[in-house]
Amino acid sequence: MDGDGRWNLLLDGLAGSPAEGWLRIDQSGPTGYAAARGASFRPAEAPGSSSDVALGAWLRRGAGSAEDQGMGRVAQAGLLALYGAWLLFGYRWHFVDGANLLFHEAGHVGFALFGPTLHMLGGTLGQLFFPIAAGLHFARRERFQDAAVCVVWLGESLMNVAVYAADAQAQALPLVGGEIHDWHWLLSRWGLLAHCASVARAIHVLGSLAVVAGVGAAVAMAWPRSAAQPEQATGAGL
Ligand SMILES: [Zn+2]
Repeated sequence: MDGDGRWNLLLDGLAGSPAEGWLRIDQSGPTGYAAARGASFRPAEAPGSSSDVALGAWLRRGAGSAEDQGMGRVAQAGLLALYGAWLLFGYRWHFVDGANLLFHEAGHVGFALFGPTLHMLGGTLGQLFFPIAAGLHFARRERFQDAAVCVVWLGESLMNVAVYAADAQAQALPLVGGEIHDWHWLLSRWGLLAHCASVARAIHVLGSLAVVAGVGAAVAMAWPRSAAQPEQATGAGL
């Protein structure tokens, strides 16, 4: 550690190694950076006089300027809108459904203890639970743009479920993790096997609504806003 009288700043997670993470910044403004980064500080000796303004500016930039974050949101919303449009007009099995399949099988395992119906339905519940849980995780941290991505994922997963439900009568889809067709079993039990196409359509519509809602929310959050206008004094003392 240098002893030139500056603060030493350990930026957790910013640098690749603790050794690289030791940075020096002007004492006049480290607290804000610490709060923004969750970094830990420890003061060295008396504050020095040399200027680290450039480093301070770099740190502020590293924290992500409002302009950079705005551009990131626009790019994310644009990609999400393209993906959402593809889902709405041309959904078919793709790599996201590979992840859904893992969560589906985990759901079967998780709900196996709660009776045969929930065991069968557990696959569907599992693949819907994870997008919801991830969305809530981001929403609690006020990462609403990321939460919107999860809403689109939820819609996509519902579309995947709809394909499975539509196959309940034909049972043409290859099955993974068992010989029993979930939706054939479920709809037979509920007396709805003959209506599997309608059930699937309803699930698909639900998924489409989630996709539209997620994309709409992401675009709305990314939409450039005009700078807030300062309130004009009326002179009337109001
Ligand atoms: Zn299943």
